[in-house]
Amino acid sequence: MPMFVDTSPPGHCIFCKIVAGEIPAAKVYEDDLTIAFMDIGQVNPGHVLVASKRHAVTVLDLTAEEAAAVMQTAQRIAHAAQQAFAPDGITLFQANGAAGGQTVFHFHMHVLPRHEGDGMALSWPRK
Ligand code: IMP
Repeated sequence: MPMFVDTSPPGHCIFCKIVAGEIPAAKVYEDDLTIAFMDIGQVNPGHVLVASKRHAVTVLDLTAEEAAAVMQTAQRIAHAAQQAFAPDGITLFQANGAAGGQTVFHFHMHVLPRHEGDGMALSWPRK
């Protein structure tokens, strides 16, 4: 079970506050449509979240332009992770809805550097 579930109303969720600069985050990239910052939970070193700047809840709520921008940002972060951490692999993971494993209800994609024998299930999410 997730330790924390953010059910704040749109515009008041944790990631909206990060986008607005109202709470601190280790931001690594941003553009007009997306923001990337270190996951506070750091499943593996270099664990980054790529979020839409606009409050969209799931992939179903993104515009096509936002969906493309999220993937482009995730690829940028993956390139940076490859240089910084020399991982054996990289997992991109994205959960939609509580039943899909989502705990923060503002669209985001996980970028996870992976190493042989890192103990994580081959495909995240957490069990
Ligand atoms: P989800 O379970 O796929 O929705 O992922 C939510 C992620 O948000 C988890 O990996 C949390 O560790 C992460 N998280 C929650 N609050 C914060 C925060 O304030 N800053 C950065 N990451 C956060």
